[in-house]
Amino acid sequence: MEYALVTGGSRGIGRAICQKLAYNGFSIIVNYKSNEMAALETKKMIEDEGGRVELLQFDVSDGTAVDVAIEKWQQAHPEDYISVLVNNAGIRKDTMMIFMQDEDWQDVINTNLFGFFYITRRVLKDMLTHRYGRIINVASLSGLKGLPGQVNYSAAKAALIGATKSLAQEVGARKVTVNAVAPGFIATDMTEDLDEANLKKMIPVGRFGRPEEVASLVNFLASREAAYITGEVVSINGGLYT
Ligand code: NAP
Repeated sequence: MEYALVTGGSRGIGRAICQKLAYNGFSIIVNYKSNEMAALETKKMIEDEGGRVELLQFDVSDGTAVDVAIEKWQQAHPEDYISVLVNNAGIRKDTMMIFMQDEDWQDVINTNLFGFFYITRRVLKDMLTHRYGRIINVASLSGLKGLPGQVNYSAAKAALIGATKSLAQEVGARKVTVNAVAPGFIATDMTEDLDEANLKKMIPVGRFGRPEEVASLVNFLASREAAYITGEVVSINGGLYT
């Protein structure tokens, strides 16, 4: 049994990734921060399809909480290890730089970037020992191109891309791959406040993406077939930016 941990698996892109990986035989660990109802819904969806799933609540931006949760999971699964980690948990707090408060900056950096650091360093050790692992970081178009109103979010996602490239070089020899995906506009709770009708005019394929489309890409990068892809950032944005 191979275990895949998806942070922020309760909703949106994370939920779709959980479903896709479960369908492909992984036992899923669904992390979430506070929306237990949504996490239970994800769990039920997977179980209804015959998949294996468990919930693991923790705040990715809290290093101690991450350590405690992973330790607890490892004690409950002494024979197993997490071979696939999807760092998907993320938030945005958009505002123009001149209005940006310390809290807007810190919350976004802490969740999107420190979250990656806290969880990856814990899970990586077992991957290295077992000489196999897949780490997929959910970055963003914003981390490649930058977007106005997202100085905090663009900084966090660009740093995540840098970390992806660096870590890939550290762990490649142990058959652990590290890649990032960079979605454009995807229809989830995170983008529900955006003016979709107007924004989609800029997107060559003429629509927002679906969480399932990002999940398919992540699923490939998480597979054994993707062994020769590492340190890569794959855009999935309907042609908005190449
Ligand atoms: P979403 O629908 O808002 O879902 C966010 C998920 O992250 C939820 O499961 C949430 O848990 C979890 N989360 C937030 N903060 C957390 C924390 N501190 N600890 C643990 N879990 C936390 O967002 P989404 O659109 O699916 O986005 C998923 C990822 O894709 C994010 O990294 C985002 O930056 C990236 N992305 C999204 C888009 C887009 O257009 N949607 C584009 C590019 C990149 P709860 O349910 O408990 O709140």
